[in-house]
Amino acid sequence: MTAALYGVRFGLKTVVYEGVQPGGQLTTTSKVENYPGFVEGIDGGVLVDKMKAQAERFGAEVRYGSVTKIEKTNAMFVLTIDGEEKVEAGSVIVATGASAKYLGLPREEEMKGRGVSTCATCDGFFHRGKVVAVVGGGDSALEEALYLSKICKEVHLVVRKPYMRAANILQDRVRESQNIIVHLESNVTELLGEMKLTAIKIQGKDEAIVVEVSGLFEAVGHNPNTEFLKGMVDMDAAGYIQVSSPSTRTSVEGMFAAGDVADSHYQQGINAAASGCRAAFDARDYLQSKSF
Ligand code: NAP
Repeated sequence: MTAALYGVRFGLKTVVYEGVQPGGQLTTTSKVENYPGFVEGIDGGVLVDKMKAQAERFGAEVRYGSVTKIEKTNAMFVLTIDGEEKVEAGSVIVATGASAKYLGLPREEEMKGRGVSTCATCDGFFHRGKVVAVVGGGDSALEEALYLSKICKEVHLVVRKPYMRAANILQDRVRESQNIIVHLESNVTELLGEMKLTAIKIQGKDEAIVVEVSGLFEAVGHNPNTEFLKGMVDMDAAGYIQVSSPSTRTSVEGMFAAGDVADSHYQQGINAAASGCRAAFDARDYLQSKSF
């Protein structure tokens, strides 16, 4: 949305395809406390809506649909939308973000939507007053655990290392919470239950325990959403698009990448917004150089 805001203000005809999860990961966050300008924090979905409204106010066109393929013929890009419609563009900014990873446990597929989730703000409501577990030791896991601790009876936080990598402020809040139980050096190894999840097995350093839970929230990192670009643009081994930093240029002339899709390290809303701004500058300069 930042790329669109700048693009349209540069006088470019700017179209945004929203994809399957409009607003991306920010919409799965209950409260964003580290986006500058919002002293008391702001709901992730509200922040996204405001960004969209701001880009639209200047004339950016936001359309439903996912880009399923991009081809470059001569100087023009041809984008396939939802496998059907074709759209031409002089330049493309890829800002497709990243999606939550799953653990890959046995029976996980069958338990998705039946207790196993990667989004506490989306599914936490179904577990009000119940016992749940969260896996992971990063910012996402601790945010999920803290969110769930306010609506659930008890939260088991399962961390594979002897320490958590999340920001200290989140770790302090977890320690202060009365109903979050932290299991360090532990892994979830089994999902138990017939039609839905009823318990998990947690393997610790010395012993395994079975804990009755109605939900398991996995917060174990993300995969970049670049499947549709495989073979077209240079990526690293994990699938993140490679850019010539500090520019947003990719290996394909006229294609730029912004946000988490090209950033395996910083991955913050403010960084994504800033790189969206740079991508719009880069696209404008490219289009001017080609006299589009
Ligand atoms: P992350 O920082 O990559 O953390 C993933 C966590 O999952 C790590 O603790 C990791 O353990 C654990 N993990 C990975 N694979 C696992 C497995 N197979 N079994 C058990 N545990 C596993 O991911 P994230 O928390 O989603 O954060 C991604 C980025 O977004 C970060 O840059 C983060 O700062 C940012 N973020 C920021 C905020 C915020 O600022 N409020 C909120 C959410 C996310 P190890 O530590 O052992 O590797």
